[in-house]
Amino acid sequence: MSELSLLLSTQPVLLYTLVALLGLIVGSFLNVVIHRLPLMLERAWAAECAELRGEPPAAQERFDLLWPPSHCPACERPVRPLENLPVLGWLWLRGRCAGCGTPIPLRYPLIEAGCGLLSLVVVWRFGWSLQTPAALALTWLLLALAVIDLRTFLLPDALTLPGLWAGLALALVPVLVPLRDAVIGAMAGFLVLWSVYHVFRLLTGREGMGRGDFKLLALLGAWLGWAQLPFVLLASAGVGAVIGILLRVAGQLDAGRPLPFGPFLAAAGWIALLWGQELTTAYLRSVGL
Ligand SMILES: [Zn+2]
Repeated sequence: MSELSLLLSTQPVLLYTLVALLGLIVGSFLNVVIHRLPLMLERAWAAECAELRGEPPAAQERFDLLWPPSHCPACERPVRPLENLPVLGWLWLRGRCAGCGTPIPLRYPLIEAGCGLLSLVVVWRFGWSLQTPAALALTWLLLALAVIDLRTFLLPDALTLPGLWAGLALALVPVLVPLRDAVIGAMAGFLVLWSVYHVFRLLTGREGMGRGDFKLLALLGAWLGWAQLPFVLLASAGVGAVIGILLRVAGQLDAGRPLPFGPFLAAAGWIALLWGQELTTAYLRSVGL
């Protein structure tokens, strides 16, 4: 063992601090993904539609996760390095662009702080192990997916599909669950929601959920194994229904307007990632098995 790994495996506080800082920095990058990925998809779809209509391709400036550099969308003022510091940058600017005073959404520091906190919980749970980097990667992916779905009702294939493959690849090692559990989990996760979607559509003529939800549950099945799917489904559907009703009663959600399901799946999946084994064991014991 190298000196660094010896140090990190014997000094949990140092490990926790480093992972929490890493989480803050990743949260800052997730803000970019959350803001830009849906815009990148919109641009790609618009270009495809134009191509289908036989229009000449419109000249587009480069726009992806790395380019252009972070700037104020209102006045184009570039974000300076110190202002880019997670949470501190936002506090330093008091939540406003230094150039034009346009408010910077509270979402930015919240996601950075939230990502740091969730990362800390992951390392506290898994410690110095191979599971920690895998669980961190899943945590960050789920956080990005949940917020994108909340804002845009999209669960981009660009995140769900590589995430699904990554979960299967990790099961080859295996890191979190054996390969067999992961493959069955991915298939079952997809099929369950695919069936619910089609039955609901046949009965009501409406779409009860987005197709991205199938892929997200397949992803969770691949990472967590099929045995966690009942918990993930029950918890996400149950909590989703309660919150939907509460929002409707409070007048925050109009009748017929859907609630994105992705954030509930992501949250239940994250809880299953950390405490799924314990929850399953406790449940089986409570029913006398
Ligand atoms: Zn500005």
